[in-house]
Amino acid sequence: MVPLTAKTAARIIRSAREDSRRRSTVSHAFYRKWRPRTFAEVVGQDHVTQTLRNALKHSRIVHAYLFSGPRGTGKTTTARILAKAVNCLGDRVDRPCNECLMCEAVDEGRAIDLIEIDAASHTGVDDIRDLREKINFAPSVARYKFYIIDEVHMLSGSAFNALLKTLEEPPSHAIMVLATTEPHKIPATVLSRCQRFDFRPIPLEDMMARLRNIAVHEGLEVQEGALDLVARQSTGSMRDAESLLDQLSSYGGGEITLAQVQTMLGTVSSQAVKDLVDHLASCDVAAGLGQIGRAIADGADPRQLSKELVEYLRGLLLMKTTTLGPSYLTEEQRTEMARQAKSFTLDRLVSTIKLFNQATTDVRDASRPQLPLELAFVEATLSPEPDMESAATSHSAPGKKPPKRMEGEKTISGQVERRPSRFSQEAEAKPAPASVKEHGGAVTAEGAMAPLKRLQDNWTEILAAIKTSNRHVEAVIRDCPPASVEGDVVTLRARYPFHKEKLEEDRSRKLVEDDISKIMGQSYRIKCILGPSAGRQDPERADEMKSLAEDPVVKAGLELGGEIGGVQ
Ligand SMILES: [Zn+2]
Repeated sequence: MVPLTAKTAARIIRSAREDSRRRSTVSHAFYRKWRPRTFAEVVGQDHVTQTLRNALKHSRIVHAYLFSGPRGTGKTTTARILAKAVNCLGDRVDRPCNECLMCEAVDEGRAIDLIEIDAASHTGVDDIRDLREKINFAPSVARYKFYIIDEVHMLSGSAFNALLKTLEEPPSHAIMVLATTEPHKIPATVLSRCQRFDFRPIPLEDMMARLRNIAVHEGLEVQEGALDLVARQSTGSMRDAESLLDQLSSYGGGEITLAQVQTMLGTVSSQAVKDLVDHLASCDVAAGLGQIGRAIADGADPRQLSKELVEYLRGLLLMKTTTLGPSYLTEEQRTEMARQAKSFTLDRLVSTIKLFNQATTDVRDASRPQLPLELAFVEATLSPEPDMESAATSHSAPGKKPPKRMEGEKTISGQVERRPSRFSQEAEAKPAPASVKEHGGAVTAEGAMAPLKRLQDNWTEILAAIKTSNRHVEAVIRDCPPASVEGDVVTLRARYPFHKEKLEEDRSRKLVEDDISKIMGQSYRIKCILGPSAGRQDPERADEMKSLAEDPVVKAGLELGGEIGGVQ
C-alpha cells in the first residue's frame, strides 16, 4: 500500500470540497456553477490574468482598474478573483488559494468587504455619494475594501464627478474595479485614473475546450459539431455558451447532437449557407431565392439564417484580407472558402455583408419574416461592382470556370472571345444596310443577321457605356440580350417581366437607345419582348424563371435598385 503523504491528502480533501461545492449548486446555471475560481481558469484572457498575477506577486496592485470588453468575457469574474487574491489569507505565491475564510466568503457571496454595484440599476448620484462616504471607513475583516462597479458607463454625469473625487484620492485600503462594455462612454478624467484592461471576445478554440471540459465533468456526450455550433453561436461570450450548453443538457439528456443544437437554435445546415453564397457569387437569383424558400420551409428561422450568412461572409472577408481567414476553420472549409472568396471583390463582399446585416435587424419588423433576406439577396445580385467579373476571372484557379451571371450573358461573353478586330468588324458590317435595302423592308432571317451580329459584337462596349450612365439599368439589360435588329429597331429579349417594364420606362429606354446609337454610329430605337433565350433553357429552368418573375420580392428588389439609381 502506498503511504498517503500530507500533500496528497490535502489535494484529495481539496478536490472533494470542490466537488461537493459544485454538486451543491446543481440548480444553478452552468455559467455560475462553472465560474472560474482562479486566474488560470479564466478563458481566453491570458493577457489580463498574467499581468494581474505578476502584479500580485510583486505587490504592485493599484487602487483603480477599468475592465472593458464585450459581455460574457469574464470581467466581473476576474474582478472577483482579484478581490479574493488581494484579501487571501493563504501563504501561497499564486493567490487566491480558494481555501481560506476570505476566499470562501467571496465564493459564497457573503464577503462583507466586497461591494458590488450595478450601475445599470444604480444610476443616481446618491449611490456614488454613499460609496464616497463608506469607502473611507476601514474594511471590516479583510485587508482591502473591494468595490466592483458593473456597467459603469451607465452612471450619470454628476455620479461620475463624485466617483472621480474618490479616484483622485483613494483611501489606501480601497480597491475599485470599474467594468464596462462601452469604455468610450467613460469620461477621460475617470479613464486616466484607472489601469485599463481590455477583455477580448473568447476565441473559438478556447471556448470549445472549456465547453468540452464542462461536458466531461457533467457526464454529457456532446458531438464535436454540436460544440462547434454552440461556441460559434455565442460569438465570444462564454456566459452565452455555457447557458446554451446548460439548456441543451436538460433538453437532450446525456447526449447532445448537432441536429439537436440546430433544432434548438433554429439554424440551418451550413451547407445551405454555403450554397447560398455560391448563388450570390454567380448572381443566380432564381437559385438563391429558391434556396431561401426551402430553408424557411424546412423550419429555419430567417433571422438565424441571415445571421449565419453574415457570419459566413465575414469569414470570406477575413479570408480575403488576411489570407489565413478565421482561426476556427478546418483545412477543408478553408479551401472551400478560399475558392468562394475569390468570386467576390472586396467592395462587393463588404456591401453584401452590409445588406444581410441590415436584413438581420429588419427581420423583426417585416410583414413576412423572410422578406428582408430575399430583398437583400436580390439587391446583392442586382448591383455587382464594376470589376467583379474581371476580378473573379483573373483570380480563379486554372481550370475553374469564372462565376457566370446568367445564361444570356454567357452567350455574350462567348462571342466576345471570338470577337474579331475592330478593323474586320467594320469591313464585315458594310454589306448590312445593302441587304436590308435589297429586301425592301421585308427582312429575311439572313438579312437581319448582319446588323444583329454587329450589335452583338459591340454589346460589351454598349453595356459598359450604359453602366457609366446608370449601373442599375445596366444590371437589367445584361439579362436582356438583343434578339433581332429590324431597320432602326433593336429588339431585346427580357427574361423577366419586371426587366421589360424597367426598360420600357422612358428614362431607361432613352438611356439605352442613346448608348446603342452612339456606339453603333446610327440611330436606333429599342423594343422589348418577353421570352427565354432561344434554345438555351431547359423546361424546368423556364418554369423556375416564370415563377420567379411572378415573385413580388424580385419586383420590389428591382424597384429598390431603381430608386438608388435615381439618387446618383
Ligand atoms: Zn485564500
